[in-house]
Amino acid sequence: MSQESRVRLVCTVRGCARELSAGSASHSCVAGHSFDLARSGYLNLLQVQDRRSSQPGDSTEVVAARRRWMKSGRAAPLAQALLEEARRLGVGEGTRVLDVGCGEGSFLGELEAACGCEGWGVDISRAAIEAAARRFPSVRWVVCNADLGLPFAAQSFELVLSITARRNAAEFARVLAPGGALLFVVPGEDDQHELRELLHGEAFAVDRVPGLEADLAGKFVLERRWRLEWVNTLDRESFGDLLALAYRGARDSQRARLERRDEVRVTSSYQLALFRAPLSAS
Ligand SMILES: [Zn+2]
Repeated sequence: MSQESRVRLVCTVRGCARELSAGSASHSCVAGHSFDLARSGYLNLLQVQDRRSSQPGDSTEVVAARRRWMKSGRAAPLAQALLEEARRLGVGEGTRVLDVGCGEGSFLGELEAACGCEGWGVDISRAAIEAAARRFPSVRWVVCNADLGLPFAAQSFELVLSITARRNAAEFARVLAPGGALLFVVPGEDDQHELRELLHGEAFAVDRVPGLEADLAGKFVLERRWRLEWVNTLDRESFGDLLALAYRGARDSQRARLERRDEVRVTSSYQLALFRAPLSAS
């Protein structure tokens, strides 16, 4: 967080939104609002009244399950696709990239390491951001509620990522530079259909891109969309991790039924959609 950046953070105290200046141990605005940097280097800009629980977002346990899942390589095809798209878009040194709802930060951290871009990750989970900051100290990590607002000045980024995460169209439009790119990853129709069949007896296919396009209409233009699909064979441990990630709301009885299985093949399916911001503000 200490290195020089062209990205300007803004104060998240309600009604303030003044620019934050970086000090050695904290960031503060001219109105006197101050935010301490965590020892691991991230900045917590989440206001107490802007969270629904004392520990919003993913818990430490879910973050650990996600980290094991990423480390196992079972999400590697998606990481590779993000990297290829970033290269196609010309992402490199000096490109400012924001990952909204970055979780434990593997996708952004690996992207920054490969491309040399300036990465910023935001998530509402302090546990997730803490894990991200420890693993990828050169990326900037911020705890905030992206649904309420992004704590950045207008036109701060050339690329915004939302990887099975948030969809705040107005804020994405505000923080993207003219002509900037917005890359969405949403679950595909077949994503984890084996699990849904086991849990509910049938799997409903939902195409999420039309809803996404409707949400972004007038602010962004869909440039291209494509699919990504692969099958993982899961042992008992990784199956448990997947359940922790995907079925946080499932009843214990449902999970117990699934957890008895020794080896399961589960489809990962995603739709990727690249949107463009207008070249000039209208
Ligand atoms: Zn302030």
